Amino acid sequence: MATGPPVRPTPIPGTTFSQSDSQDCWQHHGHAFLYSHPYFRTVLFDIIRTMTYEAAADHLAHLGQDFHRRGWALGTSGNFSAVIEREPLRLAITASSVDKGRLTAGQILEVDSAGRGMEAMPGKPSAETLLHLAVVRVTGAGAVLHTHSVWSTILSDYHNGRGGFFIEGYEMLKGLEGIGTHEHREWVPILENSQDMRALAAETEALLRENSRLHGFLIRRHGLYTWGKDLTEAARHVEILEFLLESVGRRQMMEPQY
Ligand SMILES: [Zn+2]
Repeated sequence: MATGPPVRPTPIPGTTFSQSDSQDCWQHHGHAFLYSHPYFRTVLFDIIRTMTYEAAADHLAHLGQDFHRRGWALGTSGNFSAVIEREPLRLAITASSVDKGRLTAGQILEVDSAGRGMEAMPGKPSAETLLHLAVVRVTGAGAVLHTHSVWSTILSDYHNGRGGFFIEGYEMLKGLEGIGTHEHREWVPILENSQDMRALAAETEALLRENSRLHGFLIRRHGLYTWGKDLTEAARHVEILEFLLESVGRRQMMEPQY
């Protein structure tokens, strides 16, 4: 049995800690007694949540700068979140109107299940917080990433009349979680853009409930939403989907009926 003061494992970028994970961890390290006491349990969860928030904020800031550099989140566009607690639901999410090329951990806010910022944090949560919450609720994702790339903007317009389009036959599809062959057909649905975030969040929930196998969706002339079990998987999905969208877009420029 471990001795000495309780030590939380070093946060691994991309890892989300749920209460049950934390419980297993503490018990594994021989602190079942401390955990079983309501007072200490509250204190421990507070410490864990704070540390998880900090790890998530660092990772989100790094991703924002990376996506900006690659042209997927120029200016203040895009927003990124990670689940830091499930019950009650808490997200770390980018503040509204911050330049993604200079995104810092201090511009990542903590919000509750209604999208309200937690006290003592400056800034306003992203306008699209309700969409992130909708994705997390329906898919169980641990992280949600939203980019405004040129190709997601163009293809969401070009294919809007059909409600979406398939991507098929590309080797890079295997980078999507659960896909093992290039023969996979990935449906990419398109929602009409709106500034009414409650309505758009409701449409997002309905879309995801009807299509449980999606890895992402587009909003018309706006951008891409994708997610993953943690930030590492969600970031991989951004890379894979942005590659595929650019490939499909460039191919259609050569042969529009393709
Ligand atoms: Zn957006």
